[in-house]
Amino acid sequence: MEKYLSQLNDAQLEPTIQIEGPMIVIAGAGSGKTRVLTYRIAYMMSKGIDPFNILSLTFTNKAAREMKERIATIVGASEAKNLWMGTFHSVFAKILRIEADRLGYPSNFTIYDTQDSDRLIASIIKEMSLDKDIYKYKQVRSRISSYKNSLITVRAYFQNPELKEADAMARRPRMGDIYKEYVERCFKAGAMDFDDLLLKTNELLTRFPEVLAKYQNRFKYILVDEYQDTNHSQYLIVRALSDKFQNICVVGDDAQSIYAFRGANINNILNFQKDYDDVKVFRLEQNYRSTKNIVNAANSIIDKNQTKLEKIVWTANDEGDKIKVHRLLTDGDEGRYVASTIFETKMNHQLKNSDFAILYRTNAQSRAIEDALRKRDIKYRIYGGLSFYQRKEIKDVLSYLRLIINPADEEALKRVINFPPRGIGQTTMDKLIVSANGYNRTIFEVMKNIDKTDVKVNSGTKIKLQNFVTLIESYQVLNQTADVFELAEHVTRTSGLIREFNKDGTPEGVTRMENIEELLNGMKDFVEGQKEIADTTGNLAEFLEDVALATDLDADKGDADHVALMTIHLAKGLEFPYVFIVGLEEDLFPSAMSMNTRSELEEERRLFYVALTRAEKQAYLTYALSRYRWGKLIDSEPSRFIEEIDEQYLDIVTPIEERRFNPMLDADIFGDVEDSKVSPNKIRYKPAKKAVLKKGSTKRSQEKFQVTTPKNLKPVAKTDGNTNLFDSKLVVGNIVKHIRFGTGEVMKIEGKGADIKAEINFQHGGVKKLLLRFAKLEVV
Ligand code: ATP
Ligand code: MG
Repeated sequence: MEKYLSQLNDAQLEPTIQIEGPMIVIAGAGSGKTRVLTYRIAYMMSKGIDPFNILSLTFTNKAAREMKERIATIVGASEAKNLWMGTFHSVFAKILRIEADRLGYPSNFTIYDTQDSDRLIASIIKEMSLDKDIYKYKQVRSRISSYKNSLITVRAYFQNPELKEADAMARRPRMGDIYKEYVERCFKAGAMDFDDLLLKTNELLTRFPEVLAKYQNRFKYILVDEYQDTNHSQYLIVRALSDKFQNICVVGDDAQSIYAFRGANINNILNFQKDYDDVKVFRLEQNYRSTKNIVNAANSIIDKNQTKLEKIVWTANDEGDKIKVHRLLTDGDEGRYVASTIFETKMNHQLKNSDFAILYRTNAQSRAIEDALRKRDIKYRIYGGLSFYQRKEIKDVLSYLRLIINPADEEALKRVINFPPRGIGQTTMDKLIVSANGYNRTIFEVMKNIDKTDVKVNSGTKIKLQNFVTLIESYQVLNQTADVFELAEHVTRTSGLIREFNKDGTPEGVTRMENIEELLNGMKDFVEGQKEIADTTGNLAEFLEDVALATDLDADKGDADHVALMTIHLAKGLEFPYVFIVGLEEDLFPSAMSMNTRSELEEERRLFYVALTRAEKQAYLTYALSRYRWGKLIDSEPSRFIEEIDEQYLDIVTPIEERRFNPMLDADIFGDVEDSKVSPNKIRYKPAKKAVLKKGSTKRSQEKFQVTTPKNLKPVAKTDGNTNLFDSKLVVGNIVKHIRFGTGEVMKIEGKGADIKAEINFQHGGVKKLLLRFAKLEVV
């Protein structure tokens, strides 16, 4: 252990060996907070503390796994196995299974993912004949989610006139009724949604003092990473569990609190010292992750926030290169720029794809980037899209499996009762639902006892329903002896799923089959692995528990070499040598929806801080002057966050391609060579002097970056000798053609030299002001 402790600096060592009592480590990004937690757990175990008594809560299961592996190398794998480690959701799902009957739930309750919740809510809205444009199911779901995370139960809702009023004001007076129905339906289906995992844990700990005492005694030592992003419900759980022994260690950074929109409360970290007696506070100041330029730039930006704890972050690492800022014309150009930079950097420095990450504010931005990466044959992976287990065909298989464990599971039943088609239509389904609601029975029970109910169906349908019941029951029998792999293999064959996916013969069908194969392989691994790490058998219930809370981050085995694409929210806690932050434009980042209040804007700024501090060696910031959003080409301005960074850490350069080609003469100025009419071998990659963007002082932020072009910028690519509009022959009245906007008439010309702009009235697209040195114009 001594050897490992020497891998910490003095400031890190102190909290690591401080085991008893409440303590908080508040420190900036990359200062070793997660490392302290990891080493601290190993240290505690080396001092004889039983791993069964340690509970460690992390932000992702992947983080938990990595910590556990690290701890295993220090104290040995067999001991590390017994640690309670994982996300709030996964740890408390386990506890809820043990205690389920106290809450009236079966221990094999299903965990509904957001897709299941959405479908159920949509179906309730329909059953209640409400207008689905007013009652949008996603909005309704997020509202219900926020009630739950604030511990507002259905009963509490109806007792609080203010809540009712707020929903009525939002034109959704029936919100409470939907909430009530949703909760009842989940309960009847033996299902908990993600928020329930926290809400019910709270219920368990408050209603049953003996249960609280049991877990207080079990978890004598509690550790929480990323404490700044705990929500109210999580906060209360931690408080309750740590109340007896008060051995609670939380680490976090208020500057990285980025989940307020999901109910995270930054006050949890700010108030920690008030919540416990004699809190020891530790600060870490040395950043080990990033270059001086990155650390200083990040400091300069977070400094603009008013609500923050004062912190020092410095690094002994190299100065590093300045942060590169690139302006591009369109989102497509941005993608091409990122792809070509990765391509070249990789070549020049002998790097792997996995040394690069591309971070964006919204998932929609990935498309243009993906296109460009594909063209360059750069392998990438998108995180945070659909997890593997949410793909249609996988969910179909899983739904059969869920029904085996819990036939009450309404969403699973609705999904597969007629898939593959067995002639059980929506009308029959509606009758079953009505009857089930009326008798307060599950749909499966109604199907099983159809003769004893009021459901009127013809005898053919009746037989089909009975066959389905028999099918599921036969699987239940098999489940008593088979492991999850054997069972799933049998189910996919005998349910007709394989036949169904095989029959269409389309490429999609083939992919579906491959995915199912992948699922089966994964199950095989699971069965083997489960025997090794957890000494259990690898049965169906364990498997479902595992996948219900899996995200695609967890599925990453780290074996393939790919560039990582993800939203900044997902990148929290991670690090990469080279990081691109793309789409730095007003209304996109900061998001248009977050500019109403100072606190919203400050959260966006924290998000930017998180993004920048992921980079170890080099950060790139890019923005485009126009971008397709919601199917339209929208003009955009550079994000204020670029300007807020202290200029001395920035290298504001024009796009690389602009140095190589004369924009006016080239077919495609931001030269995706494959797309361009210029054949690649005609282009000489001649190093040219940089065209430097300087900050000016004009009012609009877009104009703050004026272009000064080196005089010796000469065309390098051969062209057909089109008019060089750069030293403009263009006059008012000319008819011009633009590659994207089509034909238009020049209305006005202004500016000089590199700054000449033309106002052009395009037939499609209206009046646009274009900088001639960028615009792809041709006089017709
Ligand atoms: P974040 O706020 O982003 O979650 P963090 O404070 O949790 O960051 P870590 O991820 O623990 O920081 O550490 C950042 C990087 O610095 C890691 O690669 C870690 O291994 C390394 N590191 C931390 N402390 C030391 C140290 N004393 N010596 C060498 N490397 C260190
Ligand atoms: Mg961390």
